[in-house]
Amino acid sequence: MKVTSRSKVMPVELTVRPDRQGYIVEDATAGEFYEMSEPSVQALQRMREGLSLEAIEEELSARFPDEEIDMIGFAEQLLELKLVAELDGIPVRGESDSERSANAKPLKSGGFGWISEPFARFWFHPVMRLLYVSVIIMNIALFIAKPGLFPQYRDVFLFESMALNSLIWLGISFVLLMLHELGHIMAVRSFGLPAKLGIGHRFLFVVFETEMDGVWRLTPKQRNRAYLAGAGMDQVMLLLCLAVQFALPGEPGFVAKLAAFAALDLVVKLVFQCCFYMKTDLYYVVENGTGCYNLMERSREWLAVKLRGRGGDPARAIEERAVKWYAVFYAAGYVFTLGMIALFFAPQLIVSLTTVIPRLAFPAEGGPFWDAVVFLAECIGLGALLLYSWIKSRRNAV
Ligand SMILES: [Zn+2]
Repeated sequence: MKVTSRSKVMPVELTVRPDRQGYIVEDATAGEFYEMSEPSVQALQRMREGLSLEAIEEELSARFPDEEIDMIGFAEQLLELKLVAELDGIPVRGESDSERSANAKPLKSGGFGWISEPFARFWFHPVMRLLYVSVIIMNIALFIAKPGLFPQYRDVFLFESMALNSLIWLGISFVLLMLHELGHIMAVRSFGLPAKLGIGHRFLFVVFETEMDGVWRLTPKQRNRAYLAGAGMDQVMLLLCLAVQFALPGEPGFVAKLAAFAALDLVVKLVFQCCFYMKTDLYYVVENGTGCYNLMERSREWLAVKLRGRGGDPARAIEERAVKWYAVFYAAGYVFTLGMIALFFAPQLIVSLTTVIPRLAFPAEGGPFWDAVVFLAECIGLGALLLYSWIKSRRNAV
């Protein structure tokens, strides 16, 4: 089947919602979302009315003289995206609706449905939001009032045993991560949308992520709630950790040390929010604020074009500004990461390994030897998990 200028294309059932700079088009059956421009949305509307590609192209070229209208190209793209139901009155072969919905992400059912919408909404009541803002202010105030509370890399060494330290780190990190994700899940549920928890990786780090494709059904302002709820939860936990340390002055006991450990984890995560190249929550907030989606990809392109010393396509003014700013943040993210590695991760790893490796030479000593073995096994296990996640994302990218 070939698309010609005389062709009449009937798109599949689509829901169109206006967004900051264009439209978000939802293919509800497949659970996919697309960003489209005004002319594209108009073209879809005319297609549905049964006009030929030729006629639509003529009309849209007159209405949008600055845009390059290529209806055959557009129709071919729709075919590729499986968004065409009929071409010249003939059903387009491919997946039927039922097959498509079988492959679709579960946007309507499941996905933490047991968290009721009113319960989730309670946590985002204006009073609660005011509370979250005061939590952030209190955290800053506490750090200023008592600079000793600021985390140090040594906070991870609670015990003599490295295996125990790393296990505690894994445990704390996992609990805090789940609470962070719970923040996102609550936000998504507060709009009555389903959420899904998945595993992935960002740069060198294994991460659990809440999949929230459903947020594309929301307005840009509503989407910010979903993106920021995780960091909000982190701030609440940080206040708790700082308060515990504040309430237990003097030589820190186990509880205070545990709180310091958790605070370190939370502060590190906060800094990572600024590393936009990892597409963090904050990245999505910026993307959302500018209405310029795939900021990262566009900025990379822009950086590449700049580095090659050529001017790219003349992008729209707002978009170009957003992309430029983003490119600066993008580069700054790498500087942040190197800083974190130098200040926290490298010293931690060096101290751990230099403590542990010599112990391997003395199996007769029992405890310390096995501690070293367990610690190194954990390092290898974590490395393997990371490798697995990397390979998985590579395979998905192809
Ligand atoms: Zn998050």
